[in-house]
Amino acid sequence: MRFLVAGGGVAGVTAAQRLRTAAPNAAVTLLDAESVPYYLRPGLIDVIAGRKTLSAITPFSRGWFRDHEIDYRLAASVTELDLIRRGVKLDSGDRFTYDRLLLALGAEAACPRFPGAPRAELFTLRSALDANEIVARAALSRHAVVVGGGWLGLETARALQTRGLRVAVVEREPRLLPRQLDDEGSAVLASVLGRFGIALHAGVAGLELVGRGPLDSVVLSTGERLPAELAVVAAGIRCRSTLPAQAGLDVARGVRVDAFVNTSDCSVFAAGDVAEWEGRVYGTVAAAREQGMVAAANMHERGSAEYRGTIPSNRLKVLGVDLVCAGDTQPEGGPLTEHRFSDREVGSYRKLVLYPDGRIAGSVALGAGAVEFGALVDRPEPVGDPEALLLG
Ligand SMILES: Cc1cc2nc3c(=O)[nH]c(=O)nc-3n(C[C@H](O)[C@H](O)[C@H](O)COP(=O)(O)OP(=O)(O)OC[C@H]3O[C@@H](n4cnc5c(N)ncnc54)[C@H](O)[C@@H]3O)c2cc1C
Repeated sequence: MRFLVAGGGVAGVTAAQRLRTAAPNAAVTLLDAESVPYYLRPGLIDVIAGRKTLSAITPFSRGWFRDHEIDYRLAASVTELDLIRRGVKLDSGDRFTYDRLLLALGAEAACPRFPGAPRAELFTLRSALDANEIVARAALSRHAVVVGGGWLGLETARALQTRGLRVAVVEREPRLLPRQLDDEGSAVLASVLGRFGIALHAGVAGLELVGRGPLDSVVLSTGERLPAELAVVAAGIRCRSTLPAQAGLDVARGVRVDAFVNTSDCSVFAAGDVAEWEGRVYGTVAAAREQGMVAAANMHERGSAEYRGTIPSNRLKVLGVDLVCAGDTQPEGGPLTEHRFSDREVGSYRKLVLYPDGRIAGSVALGAGAVEFGALVDRPEPVGDPEALLLG
C-alpha cells in the first residue's frame, strides 16, 4: 500500500506518524512546500516576541522522519492532482502515485485589499518565513498597526509590543474576539490590554495605508491617523482548496469531507485547515490533529474511525493576560442561558453558558484562574449554583 500525504503541518505529520505505526510495511511519503522541517505554528508568536527561535519550536529533526521510515520531502509543492491516475505532480516536475492520498494543505492568511498602492511593509502571518520578515521589519520600526482583533491579531500585537514597538489594533467589528466575546467581555479585555499600552480601535469600517515612499501611518475611516512603519493583517484564513477544486473534488469553503474525513473521491481524504466538515472549517490545532488521526485510521482500514467534531477551546497566548474561551460562548437563540460576572477594575470577566439541565455548553474566563475555569466545560455533570461558580 502507498500512502501519500500532501502538506506537512500538524494534520499531515500526525497522519504520517499514525500511518507508519498502523502499517509498518507500507510506503509513507510526506510532501511539504516549506523548506524547513515541521514546526509548531502557534509558536511563531514566540518567535516574533523574541522569546523562542525556530529550532525551539521544531519538534522533530529530518533524521527523525528518516528513522521512522517516512519519506519526507521538503520544498515539495504539489501543483497537480490527477484523481483518475491517482497521482500528483510537484513544482519540480517529480511525480508520485498513491493508493490513498491525504490532503493536509492547510490554509493561507486572508488579506483584504486596501486603498492605495501595495505596501512592502504590510504583512500577514502564517509561516516561519512570514515571521522572519515581520521580525526584520520590526527592527526598523517604532510603531505597528495590527489589523484584526481576533486571537492572532491580539497575540501578534502583544508580541510586537514585547519587542518594544508601540502597537495599535484595529478591528472592523464593534468588539474584540467578536465570535467568542460579548460586549462586556470585550470591554474588560480591552481595558486589560490598554494597561500594556496597546491601543484598540473597534468598529472601524475601513483604513488606508499611507506614506510617501515607505509606510508611515494608517488612516482610519474615522479620520484618525495612527503612526505605523509596519502593519500586520490578521483577518482570518482561506483554505488552500484551489488545487483540490481544479482536480474535481467537492469543495465549498474547504474540501468537503464526511464523517470518515473522506472527500468526494474514495481514495482521497482531507484533514486540518483545508477540510470542511458539516459546513465547518475549524482552523485550530486540536481539530487538525484529530482529523489527521481519523484520516490515518481510515486510510489504513476503511470505516475504522469516525470524526464527530472538536469542542472549540482557545487560550490567548498573551504574556500577562489569561483568557480561555471554550465551547459555545455566544449562543444565538435556543434554550441556553447565560450567566456573567465582570470586574473591569480588576480585569476579571467570567461567563457560563448552560444547557437547560445545568450542564455547561460554553465558558469564558479572563483573569486569575482562567485555565481551571475553562476546563469546566469538559465536566459532564450539571453545575449546581452558577453564580457561586462564577465567583470562584
Ligand atoms: C501564528 C499562528 C498562531 C496560531 N495559534 C494557534 C493556537 O494557539 N491554537 C490553535 O488551535 N491554532 C492556532 N493557529 C492555527 C493553527 O496553526 C492551524 O489551525 C494549524 O496549523 C492547521 O494545521 P494544518 O496541518 O491543517 O495546516 P498548516 O499548519 O497550514 O500546514 C499545511 C502545510 O501544507 C503545506 N502546503 C501547502 N500547500 C502545499 C502544496 N501545494 N504542496 C505541498 N505542501 C503544501 C504548507 O506549507 C504547510 O506546511 C495559529 C496559526 C498561526 C499562523
